[in-house]
Amino acid sequence: MSLGGSYKRGGKKRGPVTPPTPEEIAKRLKQLKALAAPRSNYRELSLALHGMICAKCAREFSEKDRHLLTVHHKDGNDSHNPADGSNWENLCVYCHEDEHSRERLADYLSGDD
Ligand SMILES: [Zn+2]
Ligand SMILES: [Zn+2]
Repeated sequence: MSLGGSYKRGGKKRGPVTPPTPEEIAKRLKQLKALAAPRSNYRELSLALHGMICAKCAREFSEKDRHLLTVHHKDGNDSHNPADGSNWENLCVYCHEDEHSRERLADYLSGDD
């Protein structure tokens, strides 16, 4: 096997250098952010998928009070975020709290048997 070949990189690329437009930069930044922080996007995804409505009490939310609608992970694992939304449930803060207190209670009761 010969190592003799010299692999010089083929010089500078020619051609016009067009600086990216602000729109292109914004687009790239968006893509980068989406790649860098997929976990922080699941809430928006879930709200978009399931709608701004509580899955339990069916209370509807608007842009104004959407912060009261949270995303519950059905399997309790908040890093399990399938893109089809199958592990997400949109719950208002009240139902969400209720859901988790029930879980704890159920754990407690079943563990104490
Ligand atoms: Zn609710
Ligand atoms: Zn939850």
